[in-house]
Amino acid sequence: MQNLSNCPICESNKLKQFIKVKDHSVSKEDFTIVECESCGFKFTTPRPGATEIGKYYQSEDYVSHNDSNKGFINSIYQLVKKYTLWKKLNLVVQISGKKTGKILDYGCGTGDFIKILHDVKWEVNGLEPDEGARKLAQSKIGEERIADLSKLNSLSNNYDVVTCWHVVEHIHELNSSLEKLIAALHPKGKLLIAVPNITSYDFKHYNKFWAALDVPRHLYHFRPTDIENLAKKHGLEVERTLPMVFDSFYVSMLSEKYKAGGIVKAFWIGLISNIKAASKGNNSYSSQIYILKKI
Ligand SMILES: [Zn+2]
Repeated sequence: MQNLSNCPICESNKLKQFIKVKDHSVSKEDFTIVECESCGFKFTTPRPGATEIGKYYQSEDYVSHNDSNKGFINSIYQLVKKYTLWKKLNLVVQISGKKTGKILDYGCGTGDFIKILHDVKWEVNGLEPDEGARKLAQSKIGEERIADLSKLNSLSNNYDVVTCWHVVEHIHELNSSLEKLIAALHPKGKLLIAVPNITSYDFKHYNKFWAALDVPRHLYHFRPTDIENLAKKHGLEVERTLPMVFDSFYVSMLSEKYKAGGIVKAFWIGLISNIKAASKGNNSYSSQIYILKKI
């Protein structure tokens, strides 16, 4: 186990316990999330180190790492994924201002996102630590386009867009990895970060059962303010924030599963979360996309 004695964002060593949470999906072990008393950032510590966290991903439930279609929640996940892939493609075209360009997807999983960009003639690269997922991605897009994380040290510096879809919350070396991703950007390039939002209504409702806490795989538990602080620390600013409206339903379904609750309840909580976020003006959705640019 690895103990963080300083806040990864502001470096303060004044930390207090925030919440104790069970790893509901794989190990059933308990983990602690602490809160930085200086900037309010919340993170999991102690945490499994980069070399020991692999076993916490060993579950059929970890849907983003396989393409299987079993189970009700999984089939909804696959259906929504098709629609959101199309939305993501449009977003990349919009934020880059380019019909075709060069994109890096950090933590590309089985490669579905960059595959659709590849199909519309974008020059794509993906990095993925999980060997099984990486092989699937390579079979779809080509072996030379997908690499493991060691490639992070030798990227070119002219990407129009670098995307991190639900990935930043998993990165052990948060600051140095971000530095490398930012260095890979063209001066006018955009960094897209999508992460769960701990200021959402579904977190307030489910609290320690909130599936997006996902300890110990999620090392960090971001608020929009934390993304702004992290951006500033690395010479970036948040240009736009966008909602991910399906995530509240998916996260609520999983949360109800951990509480042995029902799917109807999950639907309502997901809906209420979106309505509350919309009425508050866009910054408290269950998960959000942040578009960052160099200052
Ligand atoms: Zn802090």
